[in-house]
Amino acid sequence: MALTLTDVTLTYADGAGRLTALDRVHLRVPGGTIAAVTGPSGSGKSSLLAVAATLIRPDAGRVELDTDSGSIELATLSRRAAATIRRETMGIVFQQPNLIPALTAVEQLEVTAHLGGRSRARRGVTRSRALELLDLVGLADHARKRPAQLSGGQRQRVNIARALMNDPALLVVDEPTSALDSERGAAVLDLIATIAREHRAATVLVTHDPTHLHRMDAVYRMTDGHLSTLAVPAAA
Ligand code: ADP
Ligand code: MG
Repeated sequence: MALTLTDVTLTYADGAGRLTALDRVHLRVPGGTIAAVTGPSGSGKSSLLAVAATLIRPDAGRVELDTDSGSIELATLSRRAAATIRRETMGIVFQQPNLIPALTAVEQLEVTAHLGGRSRARRGVTRSRALELLDLVGLADHARKRPAQLSGGQRQRVNIARALMNDPALLVVDEPTSALDSERGAAVLDLIATIAREHRAATVLVTHDPTHLHRMDAVYRMTDGHLSTLAVPAAA
């Protein structure tokens, strides 16, 4: 497993001209490792995640995902193929959890899995996997609660558990700790690190929070669409 971006450029329409959000970006993230991306607001961090997650097609460059069943060129997939690849191989965690108000925590995970639903046995497998992941994020006792009955931190943990339902080859995470206090934030990052390593997912994590960078395998900084490597800071 690995994610490789080669010479990726992305522009957006901006009045009469174009705004360059990603400027010839190179990035390689081996499976089981976490690449952290920092940088000022508006520098292109979310655009990078959107390209890696096939949500936006770049203007130029290659985006390759190596999985156990072969290498996939993500930059040129059709919309339809991209949706399938996302569902089957990616875990995507954005800042806002986007949970469905009417569903309980365990149902949020089940609905994402799309695992048949036809046979009773299949449903049983999906349910036990969902409960196992909720346990892993410390929500075993909250599986039957709806989003309104959960705290912000608990909702973010449901969000992360949901992203792991399909054993993703690629995990992209945008500022997962921005709505959490520092203790909860540390717990969520621990969880992402554990999962990335145990599931061998290539993980790209955007974070503003410098206190966790020493736990990342590589740290990058985005400035005006340029991605550069930073030294990994020593553990405090
Ligand atoms: P960050 O996540 O680092 O704050 P973004 O990737 O969201 O940065 O944005 C990078 C630049 O692209 C910013 O100047 C932003 O205003 C612009 N931008 C982001 N999304 C769009 C869009 N859909 N259309 C036009 N411009 C956009
Ligand atoms: Mg952003």
